Amino acid sequence: MGLLDRVLQGDIDEFSPVELAKLYDYDIYELGSAAYSIRESYFDRKVFFNINRHINPTNICADVCKFCAFSASRKNPNPYSMSIDEVVKLCVNAYNNGAKEVHIVAAHHPTHEYQHYLDMFRAVKNAVPQIHIKAMGAAEIDYLTRKFSLPLEQVVNDLIESGVDSLPGGGAEIFDEKVRKTLCHGKANADRWLTIHKLWHKLGKMSNATMLFGHIEERHHRIDHMLRLRSIQTSLEQANNKAGGFNAFIPLLYQRDNNFLKAKEAPTAQEILKTMAIARILLQNIPHLKAYWASLSFNLAIVAQEFGADDMDGTIEYESIQSAAGAKSRNGVSKEEMIFQIKDAGFIPVERDSLYNELHSYKEVS
Ligand code: SF4
Repeated sequence: MGLLDRVLQGDIDEFSPVELAKLYDYDIYELGSAAYSIRESYFDRKVFFNINRHINPTNICADVCKFCAFSASRKNPNPYSMSIDEVVKLCVNAYNNGAKEVHIVAAHHPTHEYQHYLDMFRAVKNAVPQIHIKAMGAAEIDYLTRKFSLPLEQVVNDLIESGVDSLPGGGAEIFDEKVRKTLCHGKANADRWLTIHKLWHKLGKMSNATMLFGHIEERHHRIDHMLRLRSIQTSLEQANNKAGGFNAFIPLLYQRDNNFLKAKEAPTAQEILKTMAIARILLQNIPHLKAYWASLSFNLAIVAQEFGADDMDGTIEYESIQSAAGAKSRNGVSKEEMIFQIKDAGFIPVERDSLYNELHSYKEVS
């Protein structure tokens, strides 16, 4: 029996990341077909999206990740820092425009006080109690614990109490310690990132997990990254934790402009689609696979739906991080365009909330 069949029948744990990287040697359509069968059995032809607003309150950063084009301490010539009122205003506008979620992540500001973060989330929740606050990547949480010498449990509980509803998946980059050291030395290491998400899940909360790929990593590093996430989700299942866990896995394509990483050639579309398909095959215990259109490009994100993905992310409204590094995502996408493109590709657009509850299916809308 071949490797793919062994993996599909559940023998994943018997192989090392290097051995599993041989999945990339399979024909793209064979991998895609296996991944598509899994996504079809979970979600049929549905493609999920939400109405959301990305807000990045500051790009002034105490860290110096090599791959980053967003931080003002690197090549971004426009440092900025929003006041709490400015953030609240954006959230209110987004809500009035139909957003159900605000996605708030920022650089590691060197002088903001701890209370600033709590006040900001409280102010947003007070102004728009109905909106879901997805905020604070694990690396940001780690930064707060180190900067203010606070226990992790306290920071996490304070954020929840201030109104944070779920954690985004950012800051995971690549877990392999050696690659990570080159990419983002100084930021939360892999164990710390995973520990923060484990604690979050233990409290009955949901989060996402990203993987930055297409830079200096090798294929087996991607597999190792996926297996570490798989293992955490498996432990949750074994502990019978019904409430918390990873909702979605989000492979992010490294963007090449305006940063200091000497990356090899950009991966081909075929390599990207194989990565999506392998993620769907290996991470069957994480329900959703997101093709984040702001990173992959809208067209490739749509194609990825045939290779295991079931989600596009949202309308975003304004995007700062991927676009700073060259992605064509600055102005988001309208809800109408999102629905049209998904339907045009032969899928069923389903508007969801942040926790993947289905709000509206656009199957019948022409
Ligand atoms: S990735 Fe985040 S932590 Fe790293 S330099 Fe950029 S903004 Fe700062």
